[in-house]
Amino acid sequence: MATSGNSAAVSHVGKIRANNQDSGYAGTYLFVVADGMGGHAGGDVASAIAVKRITETDRLYTSPNDAAFALHAALLAANSLLAETVFDHGELTGMGTTVSAILRVDNQIAMAHIGDSRIYLYRDAELTQISADHTFVQRLVDSGRITQEEAAVHPRRSVLMRVLGDVDASPEIDTTVLDTRPGDRWLICSDGLSSYVTDEKIAAALAAGSSTDDAANRLVKESLDQGAPDNVTVVLVDIDDSGDSSHNPPITVGSAASALVFEADSIRKPMRLPSLLLHPLKATQTDDSHFEPESDEYLDALILEDRRRARRRRISWLVFLAVVVAAIVTAAVVGYQFTQQHFYVGADNGKVAIFQGVQQDVGPIKLSHVLEATNISLDTLSPFSRQSVEATINANSLSDAHRIVDQLSDAK
Ligand code: CA
Repeated sequence: MATSGNSAAVSHVGKIRANNQDSGYAGTYLFVVADGMGGHAGGDVASAIAVKRITETDRLYTSPNDAAFALHAALLAANSLLAETVFDHGELTGMGTTVSAILRVDNQIAMAHIGDSRIYLYRDAELTQISADHTFVQRLVDSGRITQEEAAVHPRRSVLMRVLGDVDASPEIDTTVLDTRPGDRWLICSDGLSSYVTDEKIAAALAAGSSTDDAANRLVKESLDQGAPDNVTVVLVDIDDSGDSSHNPPITVGSAASALVFEADSIRKPMRLPSLLLHPLKATQTDDSHFEPESDEYLDALILEDRRRARRRRISWLVFLAVVVAAIVTAAVVGYQFTQQHFYVGADNGKVAIFQGVQQDVGPIKLSHVLEATNISLDTLSPFSRQSVEATINANSLSDAHRIVDQLSDAK
């Protein structure tokens, strides 16, 4: 207990990224993940500034509503701080960060959330996503433009609609209060986990019996096993009877764990404020996959483009399917015609008959039929002939079949 408590925080740069732009915090009552973005310079600064500011709320509140209010205020304060930092450090223009935070007050949780990091509750062996993704695709789903299935494979599924940072003076933050109880396990993670590790694997890692440290490390390992293209951060807390979920001392991971480093003032861009004020969205060029579409028309144009691409893929598939079906049908027709060049003599309703086709059936499909019936009753044949007919006698051709029938008739 002295060192690990019942919470854990782990952050990993991943296998592709050059630096870790995530930050995480596991404290006494407060647990936070922030995923920064904003080009080569700003992401790590943004998440670190936000987490450092929000950790000031890590204390016991008298009510969950007070805690929720304090969290909300801290996120707004972090937003202002980010804007001020950009004002002083022009090279950070466009930086932003997601924030997902929970603050425990006895058996209730105050939550504040913006962006696409996620808050999950693992209760009774069931994993539930508590936070909503503020992503482009989720907005399309919510407005009925695309389905949840389309969203899961959407090419723009990582594009963010809402973040803290150099974008919006009054960001829209989700704030809520939820009940919790001993035995609950809360997970906060960056999309470096949730975009690459399935819910089933996350639930398996969280399964009862594992310590928070083991479970957090296993989650990070699952992401690494998937190639970890993104930074991955996991904060985990178990709710017990003690009233707090203390990590003593609190731990900070990711970029917030190091001192803030700014680039030299000499590369500060001059005269950027007027353009930022006039075009707050256009002034923020980032090379990350997060942006705010400027209008619904732009959204609709994007959707149309994606739909067209999906339709082209569907048409290619339909053509391929049609070719396959045509090949199967052709093979079946050719095969059937082949069988119909065969004849045999057999028994039909107690009489000798000439059949066209082959004796075998393919499932319910009969590959032979009576071509010519005769008046020769099986009863009139010798036992040997009768047995031969019942077992069927192959003929090389229709005339050969006639010859066999004539022989049977003569032998009577
Ligand atoms: Ca990320």
